[in-house]
Amino acid sequence: MGEIMIGNTMMDAPLTLLALLERAEELFGDQEIISWIPDPNDRSDRPRPLVHRYRYADACRRSRQLSSALANLGVQRGDRVATLATNHYRHLEAYLAVPCMGAVLHTVNVRLPPEQLIYIVRHGGAEVLLIDHLFARLIPPLLANCPALRAVLVMGGPQGLAASLGDKVFDYEAQVASGDPYFVYPQLAESEASGLCYTSGTTGMPKGVVYSHRSTILHALSAALPDTGNISRHDTLLPVVPMFHVNAWGVPHSGLLAGSRLVFASIYNDGASLARLMESERVTGGTGVPTIWMGLADALEEAIGAGHPYQLQLKSLLIGGSAVPEALIQRLDRLGIQAIQGWGMTETSPIGSISRLPPGIDLGSELGGHLRAKQGPPVPLIQARVVDASGADVPRDGVTMGRLLVRGPWVAERYYLSDSTDQVVQIGGQNWLDTGDIASIDGYGFIDIRDRAKDMIKSGGEWISSVFIENLLMDHPAVAEAAVIATPDHKWGERPAAVLVLRSGAAASEEDFRQHLMDRLDRFPKWWLPDRYIFVPELPHSSVGKVLKRALRERYGLTPPG
Ligand code: AMP
Repeated sequence: MGEIMIGNTMMDAPLTLLALLERAEELFGDQEIISWIPDPNDRSDRPRPLVHRYRYADACRRSRQLSSALANLGVQRGDRVATLATNHYRHLEAYLAVPCMGAVLHTVNVRLPPEQLIYIVRHGGAEVLLIDHLFARLIPPLLANCPALRAVLVMGGPQGLAASLGDKVFDYEAQVASGDPYFVYPQLAESEASGLCYTSGTTGMPKGVVYSHRSTILHALSAALPDTGNISRHDTLLPVVPMFHVNAWGVPHSGLLAGSRLVFASIYNDGASLARLMESERVTGGTGVPTIWMGLADALEEAIGAGHPYQLQLKSLLIGGSAVPEALIQRLDRLGIQAIQGWGMTETSPIGSISRLPPGIDLGSELGGHLRAKQGPPVPLIQARVVDASGADVPRDGVTMGRLLVRGPWVAERYYLSDSTDQVVQIGGQNWLDTGDIASIDGYGFIDIRDRAKDMIKSGGEWISSVFIENLLMDHPAVAEAAVIATPDHKWGERPAAVLVLRSGAAASEEDFRQHLMDRLDRFPKWWLPDRYIFVPELPHSSVGKVLKRALRERYGLTPPG
């Protein structure tokens, strides 16, 4: 018995992004893609939005032209092409053009401090960079510090901008226009790399996660399922989550696969702009971090108060990236919008779990409310477990906490150009990713993220490196020891607070430290500045001398509610 193994009779059709592009070309040519983009001729700090509207057929044609232009610039299979861009149709073209030609799309977070940003582009080894004109000031330092970079294509902006920046800088539109609209793509293997995204490391510099064609397609399929993102051809989707942040949670891929109408907001992410865009484009679904949807709720409530409510078609909002307060879920409910929480990481492509209720539990019930505030069960093809210090599964009682481990076809097990296996736990011969999140799991299989073992602060969905700010504070002559910790914040989820021990005999005030950091603002963004400074006689330490941040938060009453 069992001696004869029969081969399967299925075709070996690779799961590649080319299948997605060809499907879009063949079936959804008329489907619309709408982008608000900054008026290139408006030089103010906040340029007016212009509405750009075209169809899938245009996006696909221009993607082939972009691939052809990149090939003419020397981009080959496996080469990295970086983007430093907001959400708009040109960024979407790069999403298709770069992986379909066999190159790797390296999306770079525009909100990072310049030194990390330069490190990431250099480490990723990009040959070509596509950059929004809004970030043109970064082009000279990037070219000076990234030796592999041989061409920069500027997206948008006033006429002549690219030419004024040197002979390696070209206008994106001129390049696309020069490309062949019938560019023929190579046959790729599904295991080839398609994307690269860096995640902020707890220590040291950010680390790269490389997605494959296979992982991207499988993630897009799972993300579109009814109990995941519920994405269909009848939807109009507005991914507010940045396209530089884990592929905008895969919405562009799932949306293209399903043939959904796509809407992009570029820099217009404030509540009132989003409400206007959602109304005018009849958006049915959006994705973003809690801070974004708080802004939207403010704008919607204000408009109701003023007697001119927005007329929205919005069915649901997927909220994640950091913990979603139950109060926000209830607020959106009252506005007739179903809030759905999701959990994920750069390392998980990112969707790991979605908090949709099991049958028989009402959205408005107490149990329903309780479950919706959790991060939900793992999505199809993702496995999750919560383990104690010995690696044993904790009881599924919704109370006992442990480390959240995950595994699946779109979960990373190592980082780009790194041999470290610190993040991997072996159980029963299988590799599991240690997420660094502390969770409990209940009888419904709902994960509840309770804390974070990672020493990081997530503010408005973006990371602040506590270590980075601590090091800057330690440079101050009056500081003996510094710890920067996350404190709960209504609007931003978390904000940094600096806890300082002064050298004996030294005197310095809160204002001195604020100024000390302000003087170094060329090294980090202003929103990383601590909101509070707390002076203490000593910091609690572990046996190996590590600052116990959890103890510190507890001691000074800075723990998150619940
Ligand atoms: P990133 O790699 O930047 O996407 O960050 C991933 C991390 O964000 C996770 O490991 C969590 O710590 C946090 N996170 C993401 N989604 C949630 C959520 N729904 N609730 C709580 N924390 C979250």
